[in-house]
Amino acid sequence: MNDFARARWYEVRPASSTKPSTYKCPLCGRLLPALGPHVLIFPEGDHSRRRHAHSACVAKARQAGRLPLREDVEPPRPGLLARLLRRGRG
Ligand SMILES: [Zn+2]
Repeated sequence: MNDFARARWYEVRPASSTKPSTYKCPLCGRLLPALGPHVLIFPEGDHSRRRHAHSACVAKARQAGRLPLREDVEPPRPGLLARLLRRGRG
């Protein structure tokens, strides 16, 4: 089962870990020392399913269209001002 690959879109953020752990990059399958510069990937924004990945692997996957971001798959949302106004009314 590959839950990671099934996500419709991904949230990508720079990682800032201080734990001396080692992770396995879901994109290339190689090991990744957490203390080095890398990124976090959240499948469909789900932080409990986050994966640590090499920055270069993410860049490559993005270029190949294999790592769509939310804005790539969802219709554009209303502008920032419209969202702020709506939130104020709740
Ligand atoms: Zn990798």
